[in-house]
Amino acid sequence: MTVSFEIWARDGAARAGAVTTPRGRYLTPLFMPVGTRGAVRMLTSADLEDLGAEVVLANTYHLMLRPGAEVVAGHGGIHRFAAWGGHVLTDSGGFQVFSLEPRVDDDGVTFRSVYDGSLHRLTPESAVRAQELIGADIQMALDVCTRLPAPVSEVRRGMERTLAWAARAREAHRREGQALFGICQGGTDTELRGLSARRTAELGFDGYGIGGLSVGEPREEMLPALSAAIAELPDDRPRYLMGVGDPLALVEAVGLGVDQFDCVLPTRLARHGTVLTNAGRLSLKRAEHAADAGPVDPACRCPVCRRWSRGYLRHLLAVDEPAAGRMLTIHNLTWVFALMGRIRTAVADGTLAGLRAEVAATWARPG
Ligand SMILES: [Zn+2]
Repeated sequence: MTVSFEIWARDGAARAGAVTTPRGRYLTPLFMPVGTRGAVRMLTSADLEDLGAEVVLANTYHLMLRPGAEVVAGHGGIHRFAAWGGHVLTDSGGFQVFSLEPRVDDDGVTFRSVYDGSLHRLTPESAVRAQELIGADIQMALDVCTRLPAPVSEVRRGMERTLAWAARAREAHRREGQALFGICQGGTDTELRGLSARRTAELGFDGYGIGGLSVGEPREEMLPALSAAIAELPDDRPRYLMGVGDPLALVEAVGLGVDQFDCVLPTRLARHGTVLTNAGRLSLKRAEHAADAGPVDPACRCPVCRRWSRGYLRHLLAVDEPAAGRMLTIHNLTWVFALMGRIRTAVADGTLAGLRAEVAATWARPG
C-alpha cells in the first residue's frame, strides 16, 4: 500500500487520525477544497498554505482538456505547475463526464469537451494514465455515476460496470508513490451499496471513495446507504465521501466513520455572497448588513473577520468588486477547516454526539 492510515482516537464509529503518503501526512477527518482547473477559485497556492489546507482536489476532466495532462506533466506535474507543496487528489473525471450524458459502453465513455465540443474518450486505463501525468498524490478509479432517481436495474448496471472498471484501473495503475482509491457506487439501495463496497474492498485499494451520494436525494436515504457501504469497507483504510460539504452532513458522516470530504459548497457560496458562520448561513448581500460594523463571524479567526466589517463586504458585493468573492472564500474555508478541527477534537474527546447536536441546532434547516 502506498498510504498508511493511523487511527488515534475513536468515538463510536467515528475515527480521528492521520493518513501518511510519500508526500507527507494529513489529519483526518479532513475537508478538501476543490481546485477545479488547477486553482481553488479566487485563491493562490500561497493562500491555501496560509489557510492550512492539507489536500486540494483537482479535476482530471478539466485538466485533461485544458491545458492537457501532458502539458501538466511537461511542467513537472501539478505540484510544480501550481507551486503547491501540499497533497493533491485528482478525481477520475467520471462525475463531470456523466453529468454531460455521454455515450457509455463496457470499455469506457465518450463525451464532448465543454470547451470546444470536441469528442473525447475516457477508459479506466486512460483515466489512470491522465492522473499519473497530472501527478496527483491520490488518484481515483474511473466510476459510473448513475443519476438518481433511477430504476434499481440501472443502478445495478452502473455498479457492476464501476466494479469491472475498478479492477482494470487497479491493473493499469503503475506509478510508484501515487495512491489509488476505488469508488463504491450503488445509489441509495442499501443492498447494492453493501455489495459494491464489499467487492471494491476485495480488489484492495489504498482507500475508498463513496460516490454518487449527496446528488439531491433526501438525507434519510443518504445516511443508510452510507452506513451500508462503510460496514463493508476495511477499518484500516481511509474512507472518502465525495461531494459532501454541508456542515451537518460532515458531522453526521464522520459519526458513521467517514474520514475525508470534498465539496465546492463553501467556495461557491462565498462567490455568491453567502457566508458560513456559527449562527448559520447568511447572505451578506442583504441590505440589513449595510450599516453593520461587526465582523462576518465574531468567533472566526480568519484575516477577513479580523480586519473588515460586514458593511464593507456587503458594499463590495453590491458593486461587484471581485475582492469580495476572494475575501468570503478565505472566510468560508477558514470556517470549514475550523469545523473539521472541532470534529477531530470531539472524536478525540468522545464528545462528537454533543457537537452533532450543536451543529444540527444551527444547520438542520435546509437552505
Ligand atoms: Zn472569518
